[in-house]
Amino acid sequence: MGTLVSNISYWEKASLLNGFDFIIVGNGLIGSQIAIKLKKKYSLKKIGLLDRSPFSAGASTRNAGFACFGSITELMSDCKYSSESDVSELAEKRFKGISLLRSEFGDKNIGYKATGAWEIFTSRQEKDYENAFDNIHYYNKLLENVTGEKETYQAHSTSQFGFNDSGNGLLNKAEGQLDTGMLYSTIAKTVSELGIIPLYGLTISSYKENNTGVTIQTSEGYQLHCERLILATNAFTKNLLPSADIVPARGQILITKPFEKVPFKGTFHSESGYIYFRNVGDRILIGGGRNNFIKNEETHSIENSKEVTVFLENYLREFLLPGIPFKIDMQWSGIMAMGKQNKMPMVENISDRVFACVRMGGMGVSLGPVLAVEVCNLVSNS
Ligand SMILES: Cc1cc2nc3c(=O)[nH]c(=O)nc-3n(C[C@H](O)[C@H](O)[C@H](O)COP(=O)(O)OP(=O)(O)OC[C@H]3O[C@@H](n4cnc5c(N)ncnc54)[C@H](O)[C@@H]3O)c2cc1C
Repeated sequence: MGTLVSNISYWEKASLLNGFDFIIVGNGLIGSQIAIKLKKKYSLKKIGLLDRSPFSAGASTRNAGFACFGSITELMSDCKYSSESDVSELAEKRFKGISLLRSEFGDKNIGYKATGAWEIFTSRQEKDYENAFDNIHYYNKLLENVTGEKETYQAHSTSQFGFNDSGNGLLNKAEGQLDTGMLYSTIAKTVSELGIIPLYGLTISSYKENNTGVTIQTSEGYQLHCERLILATNAFTKNLLPSADIVPARGQILITKPFEKVPFKGTFHSESGYIYFRNVGDRILIGGGRNNFIKNEETHSIENSKEVTVFLENYLREFLLPGIPFKIDMQWSGIMAMGKQNKMPMVENISDRVFACVRMGGMGVSLGPVLAVEVCNLVSNS
């Protein structure tokens, strides 16, 4: 984007663009919670929260609202790439994060429902089910200290849901669902009440450190100055940190029109978390499926993919709603951040003045509260 501002006023320079102690880039769930934690810790500091969009334009307002920390097949898949201790530490951060979201903001303000979450297996996935079933004891032991439950995962029949071709499921009672819009609005309200300064509609194109702090250049032609800069730009970080191990991953969601009587209620996933579905009131929401189109979906483009739409519609028709007429009301996509080598979130000081909290994977909703504290500690110790 070209420069839109060719000159600035004295007032803008004196009060609006300078004097920031902290600027956080990225008004998603992660950046906004970092801003809140910093303001609560340093109430007199001038803190700005910057985003290119009026609200988040990545994943935080476009996700499925699963309050989850990992199904058995997801954890098994993570264990292929990461150590057992990293996998259980990440599950613990997610589990604690869900508890903190609930206690800090209140269940009714974030639409939290303790539905539990089911992992579903079709008859074609019988081998996967047997493999997961054989590992129940191992993962229950691994997470016993995390959830405080002896049996975080339990095997149950899924016949009550009326899905086609599924009899086997694993229930995680400690997971649930929330209302993504309510969660985001509630956090945004706290940001505003604390006096964090909104810097929305600005795209950071580069930054430079000097003796006095960090100067940020925006595509709109503004320069801002802060003492410390925190990047919470998730999938969009590589322009600013070219060597970061971050791969974009587009996720897509469809939601039906309301049913007179919703065919099933609850929170469900399948295929190591690549497919997920739930009720939203009287509607059914389904998302994912990118594992079938993995290269195409490694993109920053927020367009919907025709192939994924067809795949998800077929999944609804053939498996979830057999013989039940439905109409798709809306569809959208959002962009997640994965790592090629490293699957863990990246929480680092890039220098004494610049910090990054990015690469949230497919379950970033739960990570915000815990990672925000980690960033606060990094900043305090620098
Ligand atoms: C379809 C889908 C479904 C999902 N479902 C779930 C789920 O059910 N449960 C779950 O836990 N997680 C889910 N996730 C993942 C979760 O939404 C993310 O992990 C989480 O929202 C990441 O938050 P964030 O703040 O790090 O990133 P984002 O929400 O992407 O925020 C990054 C922000 O940075 C801004 N930005 C980037 N670059 C710049 C720049 N140069 N200048 C200015 N601003 C910039 C962007 O505009 C954006 O607002 C899902 C994701 C998708 C896409």
